[in-house]
Amino acid sequence: MRLGIFGGTFDPIHLGHLRLAEEVGEELGLERVYLIPAAVPPHKGGRPIASFQDRLVMVTLATEESPFLEPLDLEGRRPGLSYSIETLKELHRLFAPDPDLYFILGMDAFYEIETWHEYTKLFDYAHFVVIPRPGAPSEQLDTFLATLEVRFTKQEQNHLFSGPSGKELIFKQALLMDISSTNIRERVAAGKSIRFLVPRKVRTYIREKGLYGTHGIP
Ligand code: ATP
Ligand code: MG
Repeated sequence: MRLGIFGGTFDPIHLGHLRLAEEVGEELGLERVYLIPAAVPPHKGGRPIASFQDRLVMVTLATEESPFLEPLDLEGRRPGLSYSIETLKELHRLFAPDPDLYFILGMDAFYEIETWHEYTKLFDYAHFVVIPRPGAPSEQLDTFLATLEVRFTKQEQNHLFSGPSGKELIFKQALLMDISSTNIRERVAAGKSIRFLVPRKVRTYIREKGLYGTHGIP
């Protein structure tokens, strides 16, 4: 079973997330890509975030359109900080005996991987698929890989590495969309349009629930 997993705060989910999950799922021939909102993201500092429930609803509304994108609320059912390593272990139990997991993330997130809880173990449980993100320079990649505690070996195919566990590290091209949740929240707070940045149902949900300090967005 080849499954994609794509975690994030998704505050809110936007077309950059969705397009990336759709493209990677299609290109790698994955059966399904699970979008997993973090209940308590370890890296979001002190800023207030929308409730897990609201973010999960938005992910659910957003994924309705695609037959292979699906929300998964695993992290909402665990107490404490949402660590990816725990999620990976849980997915191995859920999809036992031996699911082939592809963990999808943007280059900006990958550059912070050393700050993730037990990061060296992550690569025992899943292949990692890293997608370029505007503002996260890919030229620094080789230097960055050399600083990691996990040794990756370059494979013959371009953009492919393998780790000590045999799992792969794949650098994949996808449509670059310079969209971020931060920018969307700022637009909402300023009463500006977020049309064509998020799915229509997500925009309606934000408006109806008054998320992100909206006093009425178009
Ligand atoms: P914020 O601005 O609040 O940090 P975000 O847009 O970065 O939000 P996250 O929920 O932090 O969204 O990101 C979840 C994952 O999606 C991360 O791996 C991130 O790199 C990736 N990602 C988000 N937006 C894009 C995008 N436009 N292109 C490529 N990857 C993206
Ligand atoms: Mg982010």
